[in-house]
Amino acid sequence: MRIAVFPGSFDPITIGHVDLVLRALPLFDRIVVAVGVNSAKQYLFSLEQRLEWLRQVFAPYPSVQVDHFQRLTAHYCRRIGARYLLRGLRNGSDFDYEKTISQINRIVGGGDLETIFLIAQPGMSHISSTIVREIIVGGGDASPFLPKEVKINV
Ligand code: ADP
Repeated sequence: MRIAVFPGSFDPITIGHVDLVLRALPLFDRIVVAVGVNSAKQYLFSLEQRLEWLRQVFAPYPSVQVDHFQRLTAHYCRRIGARYLLRGLRNGSDFDYEKTISQINRIVGGGDLETIFLIAQPGMSHISSTIVREIIVGGGDASPFLPKEVKINV
């Protein structure tokens, strides 16, 4: 059973995240979209809200599960029997950051945890949760970047 964990904050989930998961569907038997909870981090949306959006967005896809975890991603993967991590690459900064994390995760995860990277589609590589949060906080309309299930009143 090929199980991949797609970890992130998903604060909020964007169409960039959705595109990545849908493209990865044929590669894995199961994809667990997992919200990493870092108690030292401030989020715009509550964990419950982020999980609810994820569940709604991925409801049509039986091989996609939604979960959350605390502490180390690599330990979470071991616990649920996932041998793969799924991550997206939008640009060079993503690559520099993800390269190190992937190398560390492989060691911390016991040596057999592989990160699988998908390059963002050209039409998606400008989309990030950070930009979406700035638009929302600034009172703009972020709907072009959000799945239809994510409704935010501005
Ligand atoms: P975090 O910043 O907490 O790692 P994010 O929710 O921002 O989590 O991102 C989770 C993953 O989704 C990362 O691998 C990121 O590269 C990927 N991702 C985010 N936006 C896009 C996008 N537009 N296209 C492809 N991958 C994306």
